[in-house]
Amino acid sequence: MERISKENYYLDIAETVLERATCLRRVYGAIIVKNDEIISTGYNGAPRGRANCVDMGYCSREAMKVPRGERYELCRSVHAEANAIISASRRDMVGGTIYLVGRDARTGELLADATSCLMCRRMVINAGLEKVVIRRTETEFETVPVADWIAEDDLLTPENVVMDLK
Ligand SMILES: [Zn+2]
Ligand SMILES: [Zn+2]
Repeated sequence: MERISKENYYLDIAETVLERATCLRRVYGAIIVKNDEIISTGYNGAPRGRANCVDMGYCSREAMKVPRGERYELCRSVHAEANAIISASRRDMVGGTIYLVGRDARTGELLADATSCLMCRRMVINAGLEKVVIRRTETEFETVPVADWIAEDDLLTPENVVMDLK
């Protein structure tokens, strides 16, 4: 039996975390790893104590057919990356890697084009994380240097804000 790669090992764990996610539109799992230690985990779900999309029976973003990349505030969820980041101390995260997996909540299919939204990118940058590893298929993944997201700063101009982000 061939030994699983470290990336897929952590992505598998992120995918297990995703099973706790509560949005009816898309579900995400994230884990932050530094020096081969898992620092924290996060999945998308409503703020503690508030009703989740699954409890309401609908996600407002989905109900209103909001296109990708727009009106995140309509979904009740705190994103997976944000939850993982607020569960960790910056000291532990600096230079670390965040692993991210997304699935379509209805079909259960992996989101081959999953990526962090613009708000999460800002948090990933300020958390001091170095890399984002995103699952594309059960065995394939993409490694994004956070430096790329910092360099893409000019994407945040008004006419470009509505892009094909998750
Ligand atoms: Zn939702
Ligand atoms: Zn986000």
